[in-house]
Amino acid sequence: MIDFKRLDGLIDPDVMPHASIAGIGAGGAASLYPNLARLGIGKLVLCDFDVVSETNPATQAYGAHETGRYKVHALADQIAAINPECKVTPIVGKVQSLRADNMTRVFDCSLALAMTDDFMVQAWLNREACARKIDMVFAGGYPSGAAVEIVGTFQDAIAAGRGCQRCYTFQRYQAFANGYQEPPSINSQIFQAELRNALLGHLIVSLLHLRAGSALGNPELARRFIEDPLLITRIDPAYAAASDEAFSDTPESFELFTSRQWPRDLPPGFVCADCGAAPEAATGHLIAANPEEQKHG
Ligand SMILES: [Zn+2]
Repeated sequence: MIDFKRLDGLIDPDVMPHASIAGIGAGGAASLYPNLARLGIGKLVLCDFDVVSETNPATQAYGAHETGRYKVHALADQIAAINPECKVTPIVGKVQSLRADNMTRVFDCSLALAMTDDFMVQAWLNREACARKIDMVFAGGYPSGAAVEIVGTFQDAIAAGRGCQRCYTFQRYQAFANGYQEPPSINSQIFQAELRNALLGHLIVSLLHLRAGSALGNPELARRFIEDPLLITRIDPAYAAASDEAFSDTPESFELFTSRQWPRDLPPGFVCADCGAAPEAATGHLIAANPEEQKHG
């Protein structure tokens, strides 16, 4: 049994053991799940179809000794060795084609994490999150290690007219609808995924504490994230720094690891096919939006 006393004053011991997280995708996210177990999370349902390959130890939190094992099985053993009180349910398969009982296990969790890098799977997951009325967080990295992105679909945000992951990444949906195709594989190095995992880990802890009404765990982080649930943190100082781009007011070399929330940028008349939000119906932001930022999405 783990002694959690070094988390005193930071993590509420009554919050984490009662929370359950579904992790869909166990590639770059691999280290996130054992770290949630270190914080005392009660239950993890992990879904991935893939096995550990010889290329994985270079970019994901797997060892050469785990080659050939299903990733979710390797993770279950890693977690059992860290915190045996964390209940892990490993599910091997593609999330869209799971048996009904496994599908229920995934979507019955307190929070679902969409950690795949496949746009079509993420789009499917967002439709499910909206239809099943569950909260889901999507996280990924940009090509060439330029930046990381975290987007959320939150029922509170939808109820307030702010929308879902599809609303906040409308331009991406439009690009795919216009025939854009993802490259078959994108190289990345581990610190890109670890930066994303660390930011996401803070948001997960915050969200669980916010929901539980605890003052610990920095609940303000999640409260603000839900206001505009699209966060981009750039790694390459030159990323989107040109005059007409998203970080144009934060020029190259001016700030490092700039992290920013972005408001939605939807065309007039847009109605989200997934969550039903329409821009005209949106309520105000609690956080003052910079008019300059409104131009970008
Ligand atoms: Zn939406």
